[in-house]
Amino acid sequence: AQVVQAEFVKSSVRTEDCPSDGIPEFALVGRSNVGKSSLLNSLVRRKKLALTSKKPGKQCGSIPFCFSLSFALASIGKTQCINHFRINDSWYLVDLPGYGFAAAPHELRTDWDKFTKDYFLNRSTLVSVFLLIDASIPVKKIDLEYASWLGQNQIPMTLIFTKCDKRKKKKNGGKRPEENVQDFQELIRDFFQTVPPWIMTSSVTNQGRDEILLHMAQLRNY
Ligand code: GDP
Repeated sequence: AQVVQAEFVKSSVRTEDCPSDGIPEFALVGRSNVGKSSLLNSLVRRKKLALTSKKPGKQCGSIPFCFSLSFALASIGKTQCINHFRINDSWYLVDLPGYGFAAAPHELRTDWDKFTKDYFLNRSTLVSVFLLIDASIPVKKIDLEYASWLGQNQIPMTLIFTKCDKRKKKKNGGKRPEENVQDFQELIRDFFQTVPPWIMTSSVTNQGRDEILLHMAQLRNY
């Protein structure tokens, strides 16, 4: 399961505008700043394919042909698109806008919700959602809510714990990434009675990279 070719195809603002060639796809989603761009780059090992940014919510800002979801989103500088990357000419990695950006007013969050939820519910070639969870900080309610929503709607998901290389810090609750991962899994288990497939990753050490690619290959071959 190696990436020999990766190509940015398009940014879409609606599910209907996404590529229509019918090849399978995997969507990466998570809170802003979770490390999504870094993971995408680490998966395809290209420095410039997805653009990492320090400013939450701007990850698709520099990609050409990217339109803002609405004037309101543009006015606060948050371009929100569904970005398709074709891998090995046979499947897509899809970068979805990050959620939970604190600066966005309630109406915008609702817009964001409608937009991505429509994609999850109606994109027939979506094989699995890869939900990114920051393992370097304590469990966030919004991540649990997100996982619950996916579960309730029977959308297949894989939990990708990010930043597993980070050391515990007092200001982050004083727990190691492994402990935060365990907390998250326990809370999810309370809800689902089971834990979805999960992988621990780091874009710094490339931990989990091969495991993710292998998991995607297995899911494609079902
Ligand atoms: P995005 O907003 O989800 O796309 O997040 P980015 O990929 O832009 O990363 C947000 C911040 O977290 C940046 O400062 C990254 O350098 C940092 N970061 C991302 N992944 C990792 C990781 O695996 N380990 C560590 N230590 N930091 C990371």
